[in-house]
Amino acid sequence: MKILVVKFGGTSVADPERIGNAAKKIAREIENGFHVVAVVSAMAGVTNQLTDYCKAFGDTTKNRDFDAVLASGEQVTAGLMALALQQMGVKARSCQSWQIPIRSSADYSDARITNVEAEKLLSILQSDTVPVVTGFQGVTPEGDLTTLGRGGSDTSAVALAAVLNAVRCDIYTDVDGVYTCDPRLVKQAQKLKTVSYEEMLEMAALGAKVLHPRSVALGMKFGVPIQVLSSFEAGVGSDVPGTVITTEDSMIEEHIISGITLSRNEAKLTLAQVPDKPGIAAAVCQPIADAGVQVDMIVQSASADGKTTDMTLSVPRGDLKRAVEALRKVKDFEKLEIKTAEDIAKLSLAGIGVRNNPKVPATMFKTLSEIGVNIHAISTSEVRISVLIDEASGEKAAQALHKVFIGE
Ligand code: ASP
Ligand code: MG
Repeated sequence: MKILVVKFGGTSVADPERIGNAAKKIAREIENGFHVVAVVSAMAGVTNQLTDYCKAFGDTTKNRDFDAVLASGEQVTAGLMALALQQMGVKARSCQSWQIPIRSSADYSDARITNVEAEKLLSILQSDTVPVVTGFQGVTPEGDLTTLGRGGSDTSAVALAAVLNAVRCDIYTDVDGVYTCDPRLVKQAQKLKTVSYEEMLEMAALGAKVLHPRSVALGMKFGVPIQVLSSFEAGVGSDVPGTVITTEDSMIEEHIISGITLSRNEAKLTLAQVPDKPGIAAAVCQPIADAGVQVDMIVQSASADGKTTDMTLSVPRGDLKRAVEALRKVKDFEKLEIKTAEDIAKLSLAGIGVRNNPKVPATMFKTLSEIGVNIHAISTSEVRISVLIDEASGEKAAQALHKVFIGE
């Protein structure tokens, strides 16, 4: 059995007409010889609306019944999609997470899929029926509904593709693929034919919001090719190429750098002259972590006098105040000089060339220096280099890097 999993995001199922269009794509893929499993998100705006309803009753974090409300959005779409397919003469039935089941942990609003049973889905497929599965939700061993975190229906789709050993998981959305940069920032941005899981993970973490990052991690773990494509174009995934996220060695084209991202949502804090002794990094980072703030970059300069050193941290802009307050509460840090800056952006290159091509960092820094951009901090991973720069030069810096690493 050649199985294809297709997932439709909120804008692709925003009203009955669009659900009808999505249903036609499913029918086309059946004509192409696939057994199709459909996964659906809530109709556009519905999850936000449900969240707002819940907020009327106080704090909704980590609450079983908040998830019960939120999971209902997908239930509606799954039923509507099954009805749309039936009207077209395609056998279909809606399946909720508990009916399959898609089991998850009980971490409400951020549940992890622990297991998906393939048996029921396979028997539905064997009867030439399309299972239309609710994305975004799981069920705990106790039978309670959970949700997987906002955007989580991508992860549901890839999980199903993994257990069913699907040929591919097509994610239909409102953009036609993954771009080398945000086209609003760099108008020469190009659509990528292929991108590796690792690069996509970095790009997703850096704020390219096309896919739920956990779906990419799952795809990588189980080797599921994931294709991102637009539901607003005429064709289907088997004939119109979007961007395929796959293993490095099956990439069609090798680029040194696949993507450039600019995150404007950054702030930095510098602690001047902290004692240069064991335990100080922990003493700085622990209170910030306890305040629930995620530190991104950490730079400690070499000590000039052997006694004190400067430390620079970057945090999300909205969390800067909390981070400073948390540090101020530490007994030894009451008098510490803390300099802060909010007009900071993080500019990143992601690509396998970072690992394979020793010239990449030098070229990046030279390009930035040529346009007079000062770098406040640098961090790297195997397939990414990020720098903190002034936000005001973010756009021109992204454009300059795009020109050098990707082209005009
Ligand atoms: N409906 C959920 C959300 O809006 C899940 C998803 O669309 O992936 O976050
Ligand atoms: Mg989404």
